[in-house]
Amino acid sequence: MRVRSIRLKLTFWYTSLLTLTCLLLGGLSYGLLSYSLNRDIDYALRGIADVLETTMQRRTETILPAEIDDMFRQFFGFSPLERHIDFFNPSGQRQRGQGREKSVLEVPLSEAALQAAAQGQQVFETIEGENSPALRVLTTPVMDNGRVINVVRVGMSLENMHQTKKRFLLIMAGLLPITLLLSGGGGWLLAGRALRPIDNMTRSANRISAEHLTQRLAVSGSDDELDRLARTINDMLDRIDGTLQEMRRFSADASHELQTPLTILKGEIEVALLKQREPSEYEQVLHSCLEEIDRINKLVEGLLLLARADAGALKLDLQPVDVAQMAHKLCDQLQPLALQHEVELHYEDLDSVIVDGDELQLQRMLSNLIDNGIKYSPAGGQVTVSVEKGNDHAVIMVKDSGPGFSAEEAEKIFDRFHRAPQARQQHSKGSGLGLSIARSIVLAHRGDIKAESVAGNGSTFTVLIPCLESN
Ligand code: ADP
Repeated sequence: MRVRSIRLKLTFWYTSLLTLTCLLLGGLSYGLLSYSLNRDIDYALRGIADVLETTMQRRTETILPAEIDDMFRQFFGFSPLERHIDFFNPSGQRQRGQGREKSVLEVPLSEAALQAAAQGQQVFETIEGENSPALRVLTTPVMDNGRVINVVRVGMSLENMHQTKKRFLLIMAGLLPITLLLSGGGGWLLAGRALRPIDNMTRSANRISAEHLTQRLAVSGSDDELDRLARTINDMLDRIDGTLQEMRRFSADASHELQTPLTILKGEIEVALLKQREPSEYEQVLHSCLEEIDRINKLVEGLLLLARADAGALKLDLQPVDVAQMAHKLCDQLQPLALQHEVELHYEDLDSVIVDGDELQLQRMLSNLIDNGIKYSPAGGQVTVSVEKGNDHAVIMVKDSGPGFSAEEAEKIFDRFHRAPQARQQHSKGSGLGLSIARSIVLAHRGDIKAESVAGNGSTFTVLIPCLESN
């Protein structure tokens, strides 16, 4: 089963990690305790053996059990019941009477210990009794003038140590479940507390829908991870809200722009159908309808181009294009339009600059700019087109002597469907898409476009398109 709650996962991982840590620490403590208990026993046995050795070197009489008890007390702090002291001669035979120990070891002196003692070395052994507890035994030689005169075996039961270790294990085994229970419960509460703001955030985020995009998540101002997350989500909501509003405006504008020619079309056809007419009248209506259909067609084409450019799917048929030649040809083609508007259209400084571009799209972009220049210039005005070679760009400029626009307008004129109120009044046929289409084409060519104007004193549109490298 997959665990879906982060709270449960956190508690699980936290408790597992703590169990592992406790087990590791417990194991380590147990190891250290065993080691230090063993070491203490060996250390004490060695101390007793050393005292016995010096005592026996100094005097010949028997060592009394009371003295042995004293030695054990001195080294262990108490005299254990299960302690042993055996005395052997150098050949390994037990010497009865020495120390008159009440509990001599039943285990015979091992060959290895005797040999080591004969060479003057001490040997520690652990002897596991079958029914009795294990013993720790030290066999040590008693030397006199470099000669082994006796062998002493000091032993002590390991029962106490085993009991201590057992108690330690029992305490650990008892404490572990309690610790885990407490830490698990604490972890569960802590995780719940830490995740509560996320739950609140989820609830608030669930309330925010496309209809209520103005709502935002609460930011506490603590600048912690959750605050940053809330701020990031709020920023994202701002962007979504902005895009959504733009889209709504765009569809409203697009429907409005499409509705106007369709209404005209419908009206003209309805009027034509009201009564029988002469063929020439029908022809006139059809011509007018065709004009409106052209307008709709242009609008739809423009919207399609913008949609493709937005999706990064504007396909460019790239090839070397001489921009000067293209501008020249276009100016020639637009002369009749300029003449119709009584505007002088001419070109100057036509440097030959080759760019890697889609000629049809570049023509479309430039004709939109020239067309605007002609459209917005008053009768008797001038439109000048120039092409220069910049550093690594072709610089195309379209200047006109029209009314221009304010700095505030300059910010918006590239927006879709944006039209200055004056333009709306005087030129009913515009759609407000020409400049945004021009900008999309320029951007698709990795170029740049800007508009400058002094209101009432003409405007200049400058386009930069990167040159071909071989240029
Ligand atoms: P349209 O010309 O169809 O209205 P455009 O996108 O080409 O759409 O232009 C957007 C707006 O920018 C125009 O409505 C007009 O207000 C302003 N504009 C564009 N070109 C010029 C120009 N040469 N002189 C003054 N205003 C301009």
